[in-house]
Amino acid sequence: MAGIPVVERTADLGTWAQEQRCAGRLVGLVPTMGALHDGHLSLVSRAAAECDVVVLTVFVNPLQFGPGEDLAAYPRALEADVEAAARSGASIAFAPPVEEMFPGEVATNVHVAGLSEVLDGRFRPTHFDGVATVVAKLFAIVGAARAYFGEKDFQQLAIVRRMAGDLSFPVEVVGCPVVRARDGLALSSRNAYLTPEERAAAPVLLRALRSGASAVAAGERSPAAVTDLVGSIVEAEPLAALDAADVVDAATLRTPAVLAGELRILVAARFGRARLIDNVGISTPP
Ligand code: AMP
Repeated sequence: MAGIPVVERTADLGTWAQEQRCAGRLVGLVPTMGALHDGHLSLVSRAAAECDVVVLTVFVNPLQFGPGEDLAAYPRALEADVEAAARSGASIAFAPPVEEMFPGEVATNVHVAGLSEVLDGRFRPTHFDGVATVVAKLFAIVGAARAYFGEKDFQQLAIVRRMAGDLSFPVEVVGCPVVRARDGLALSSRNAYLTPEERAAAPVLLRALRSGASAVAAGERSPAAVTDLVGSIVEAEPLAALDAADVVDAATLRTPAVLAGELRILVAARFGRARLIDNVGISTPP
């Protein structure tokens, strides 16, 4: 078994990171909520390839779950996560208890205005503040580092990048491509909630996104035409309940009047008790 240290205390992680930098090592940081799959491990491998040492953090962050969401049910598998991360090149794991991260009531909230209310923020009004607040804490604990996030959560990546810049964290935020199953379903810890029938139906998300991207590639410039197409493909799947289909400017996350430049097509849908999100990039010719 690959053995790496697992620390639970913020002070221990901070001391370790400081020692690494003093020894001249570049620190890579991969924040996760655990139940690791190959998507998470792609971030760890990338960090290991580009940095001297890598911290994997595993923390199911209560701040980012809304009332009625799946905080209690969220899958947990710390021992397997640590082993898999070690095999992918992690040097240390940080798995704090909730009381360590939030010893008392949390009075400080990090809100990235403009990016947090749109898209999934319409359905999960407190979610991105919870993400930004906990990631700000991780950045403060670890200090200067390169932090790896997946494009799977494209809005989260944009928010974290903006937050790090606005608050001058000495952290370079690196976005990494979506890792998918062979049938196109984006890997997600929440895929574990899917019944076999729902799992078989879920690749409709990528098919719908690809149809939207093909329409843009073929010259469609109307956002509504693209989102109607994506939405109608998802809605044609009886096991899927569409929450939203959107096409936005990749930098601002706003829907332009006319599609142009670097775009992102995003979809959110429920399959039974799993709420899944996915997205693809597409750019129009200059
Ligand atoms: P989570 O544990 O869901 O909070 O995800 C932790 C990190 O892994 C985030 O930066 C996610 O965007 C990233 N991630 C999750 N699933 C994937 C995937 N299928 N491909 C790439 N990155 C992913």
